[in-house]
Amino acid sequence: MDIVFNCKCKKSFSVEDEYLLKKDSLKCPNCEFEIPKKSLEYLKEGLSKILEAREFLRVPPPSNVVMAKPLYSIEFKIIDD
Ligand SMILES: [Zn+2]
Repeated sequence: MDIVFNCKCKKSFSVEDEYLLKKDSLKCPNCEFEIPKKSLEYLKEGLSKILEAREFLRVPPPSNVVMAKPLYSIEFKIIDD
């Protein structure tokens, strides 16, 4: 799952969830704006809860099919406007 950031410089960039959880700092690759540490900390806490919630939505793939990505009964997006 990718987390998409829309920066104040109008560019967007995405970070893979597992990778984001390991980050201690995060900067926009376009303008170098650094996400405040406290914000990143809360985001990581929230993200780990989202990943836990997502686990409950996981469904086993049919036994004759090999899936590269897990199947979910429901997918969700968080849209902030
Ligand atoms: Zn930026």
